[in-house]
Amino acid sequence: MGAIGQWIPWQDRQEWSQVVVSMTAAVAGLGGEVEHLREIVRQIEGWYAELDGQLDNLGAVTCCRCTTICCTVATVCYDLRDLLVIYLADNRLPQQQVTRQADGTCVHLTPHGCCLNRRERPFICTWYICAAQKDALMGQQHGAGSEIFALIAKVKTARKELENRFVDAVG
Ligand code: SF4
Ligand code: SF4
Repeated sequence: MGAIGQWIPWQDRQEWSQVVVSMTAAVAGLGGEVEHLREIVRQIEGWYAELDGQLDNLGAVTCCRCTTICCTVATVCYDLRDLLVIYLADNRLPQQQVTRQADGTCVHLTPHGCCLNRRERPFICTWYICAAQKDALMGQQHGAGSEIFALIAKVKTARKELENRFVDAVG
């Protein structure tokens, strides 16, 4: 996942409020293009639904034995693509940028795992497959693990298209 000390956008509340205002206004001004963008987001949600069970199963094998839980050490944050997916899905944005507690643990980590549904998390929390998970996937028969990487690749491509079309539309 992200390195400690990386630059994080929109960390203070004022910056975040400005992001919310700007995105709300920009999406409101998209006209008919907004439906095309929402269609891309619905596709992403469908792939997330497929990924969810597979990643949960993978985590059940790897994360319970892990001694360096990534959510306690990694820096993750929302980028523009994350916010587009979240906002275009149901016209709501998170209350603030993802932050970490004093010990470095992500504020969304609970004793039962992440409290956000997959769409509400930064995408890095989905595409990051750690070494232990890669090993576990490679051990699966008939290339079963490759489906996860194929789905992640589809989401990546769709997010890029989403951002490109949004940027083109807002000029
Ligand atoms: S994804 Fe990998 S690094 Fe993160 S908690 Fe699970 S096993 Fe550990
Ligand atoms: S948002 Fe959830 S999955 Fe991502 S780092 Fe925080 S607790 Fe972990």
